[in-house]
Amino acid sequence: MDLPHKGILQSPALAQYVYETSVYPREHEQLKKLREATVNKYGNLAETAVPVDEGRFLSLLMKIMNPKRTLEIGVFTGYSLLSTALALPDDGLITAIDISREHYEVGLPCIKEAGLAHKINFIESPATPALDQLILNTTHQELFDFAFVDADKTSYKGYHEQIVKLVKVGGVIAYDNTLWFGFVAKEEAEVPERFRNDRNAILQLNKFLASDPRVDVAQISVGDGITLCRRIQ
Ligand code: SAM
Ligand code: CA
Repeated sequence: MDLPHKGILQSPALAQYVYETSVYPREHEQLKKLREATVNKYGNLAETAVPVDEGRFLSLLMKIMNPKRTLEIGVFTGYSLLSTALALPDDGLITAIDISREHYEVGLPCIKEAGLAHKINFIESPATPALDQLILNTTHQELFDFAFVDADKTSYKGYHEQIVKLVKVGGVIAYDNTLWFGFVAKEEAEVPERFRNDRNAILQLNKFLASDPRVDVAQISVGDGITLCRRIQ
């Protein structure tokens, strides 16, 4: 499936400039290998991974926040997961949920080669029941510092209701693709049919988050748009 150019940097040349100037020179060897393994295995579908500048942003955000316990919903082959794992302290733990283990196994050798497999608890499950289980089994002391959500867009609003119970006050939830190829700012008639459902879900989510009193919000214009929510109550 051909995807439209993703990212608020609507010019591919400008995105390439950013990648070549500040991302590729600092990209960890195993991240590069994981990216290449993903392209070899999936071709164009590899573009469903987070773009490299977003991986770098997540990594630096983790270094700034220094979280111990994080959550990831939507792993694919693990570019965002490895970007996060590289930045977590050695005793940090990522609970990573994906409906399918198959994609994760493409990137797993790179995660192991980087010596980071011990930081990951992978759960193969649809996210909704897995999050329900976590809500039941997570004590107040074990609440998460950070969550990255990058799975089925129509479920984000439901995930939000679950994840606000799992992230501590002061913790951060990041929702990926909240600018949805720029389609959020276009009339519905201009949006290809196959992107409309997800666009509508993202529009509703963005509106909802903007007035949700439980979180403070910032729309970050990196990659395809990330909404950062800091839990305040
Ligand atoms: N963050 C990933 C990366 O950097 O490569 C990209 C994630 S990809 C856009 C979306 C992932 O969400 C897919 O791997 C898919 O299997 C997973 N997914 C889709 N629906 C899901 C669901 N209901 N529960 C859990 N995972 C789901
Ligand atoms: Ca994404």
